[in-house]
Amino acid sequence: MSGSLPDLDLAPLSDLAPLLADISLEAPWQLIERYAQLKREHPDDVRTAARELTTRLESWGVPVTLHEPEIYLSLPGRAEVVSGKQRYRAKPLAMSRSCPEGLTAPLVFAPTAFDPNTDQVITSPVSSDRSDLSGKLVLAHGFGMSSMARHFEERGALGLIAVHPGKNPHWGICSTVWGTPDLRDLPRKPSFVVVSVNHPDGLELIAAAQRGESATVIAELEEGWYPSPIPVVKIPGGEEPDAFVLLHGHYDSWDVGVGDNAVGDATMLEIARVLWQHRAALKRSVWIAWWPGHSTGRYAGSTWFADHYAIDLYRHCIAQVNCDSPGCRWATEYLDISWMSEAEDWAREVIKRIAGKQAQGERPYQAGDYSFNNIGISSYFMLLSTMPPELRAEKGYYVVGGCGGNIAWHTEDDTLEIADREVLLRDMRIYLAAVAGAANATVAPFRFSRTVAEFGATLDRYQSAAGAEYSFAAARAALGELAQAITRFEAHCVSLEGRAITDPRVQRANDALRRIARILVPVNFTTGPAFFHDPAETIPPLPDLAPAQLLQGAAATQRGFIRTHLKRGENRLIAALLDARRVVEDSLA
Ligand SMILES: [Zn+2]
Repeated sequence: MSGSLPDLDLAPLSDLAPLLADISLEAPWQLIERYAQLKREHPDDVRTAARELTTRLESWGVPVTLHEPEIYLSLPGRAEVVSGKQRYRAKPLAMSRSCPEGLTAPLVFAPTAFDPNTDQVITSPVSSDRSDLSGKLVLAHGFGMSSMARHFEERGALGLIAVHPGKNPHWGICSTVWGTPDLRDLPRKPSFVVVSVNHPDGLELIAAAQRGESATVIAELEEGWYPSPIPVVKIPGGEEPDAFVLLHGHYDSWDVGVGDNAVGDATMLEIARVLWQHRAALKRSVWIAWWPGHSTGRYAGSTWFADHYAIDLYRHCIAQVNCDSPGCRWATEYLDISWMSEAEDWAREVIKRIAGKQAQGERPYQAGDYSFNNIGISSYFMLLSTMPPELRAEKGYYVVGGCGGNIAWHTEDDTLEIADREVLLRDMRIYLAAVAGAANATVAPFRFSRTVAEFGATLDRYQSAAGAEYSFAAARAALGELAQAITRFEAHCVSLEGRAITDPRVQRANDALRRIARILVPVNFTTGPAFFHDPAETIPPLPDLAPAQLLQGAAATQRGFIRTHLKRGENRLIAALLDARRVVEDSLA
């Protein structure tokens, strides 16, 4: 549908050469060494970590605002599984129910389709079995987070012992609730016990389950409202200061979390230093934010910010760029990079220019501080560099959710050796170029022709799954009309290259790009209302239409319900496509 696109305007990247040359390892490495000695889970330690950031920023004269929200957190303490005479090391997942007194029940093993060699960290798959597990302690292979935990809680289990694939159990969070719960979310807040054990211990416990034995799970957690500082730096652009790119990442971590995410915190610190020093070169603003409550509150810090700066974000945010786990050892490749379709060309080009590498990317997961989808903001990056899959296989590693693929991720082993100076230097430059280049582009470097093409491919897939049971012809027609309008719009944007940012035609084009994102991002990434937050579960493309894939296999009585759902979802999509087309045409008028 997109055909061949006009070249992206890369002048903003060339202009960044002096800024890129100023990126140094000195300050970031010093912060990493400090964080390598500082556990950043408990809010008191997180406060100390915030001070480490603000002290440095202030010493350079960089203005920093410290927000002090109260967010809802769950702080894991000790856990253990006792079976017969054996005591097994365990980790409680955040948001698990606390049971310091111990919970004793019969063990049962529930088979899952978990595959440690593919990315199934956030949503490890479960089987289609829905049989009752009341009164049981369930053992299952997988990470035990979000929808996996929810599945076993819905089946009545008293607790879940997630059997992790390696020598260490990993920390994590079992709730599907995104950030601090609101009234809509509260019913989904877990009220059962979830712990993780390592692989060999898990196998012994599975054997005990098969012998019909019971076990006791002890899990200590503390839960409540905690004041948690959010440092935010706003570096004003000289020409259009209201418009901004948001660069962000979490600074709380599991244990000392060097690869996840001291390296990201250091990256943002260095970018703040360099951008402040070169602020005269910045045309639009860059906001840089460090989040607490990522690990223990399922992105509660970024969610608070999305809630409390929602209208600024809605009106003025050009893009959000997440910074998690860059600069780790052996991370020589740029694979599985998160990018929304409109940002793909830009993200690819930046990585090619800076690292000389061909990047490969994917639809962003509903994870990692992507707390802005319900507002509708174009987004790219979450994790960045990673080790090549061949090296992972050679080392006998499995797929994890950060640390450049190092399995020290979310364990006590995520220490200084996980960070790599050379990789970090390169990744810091990529982040700087990706953020400042977008802030300085005459017209934001996003191509919604890619998004429209993605919608077309999604509709094709859902149509062939639905067969004759449902027709997406009306959505397809509206999409075709939007595609034509966007082709004209993108040609118009090219004609604006070289003009001043304050030129009204340039401002109109940028305004249109932001409004298109506000319309098209939500229909592709959310099912809930604007300004609320969808659950931390896999959200398929055009999620309201995804049930098309269930039509053929459904019982006759179910199909009518599915078709009703598809009709409503299609209406939502068509209205969005019409609104986006109106925005495009108005901007060209
Ligand atoms: Zn992280």
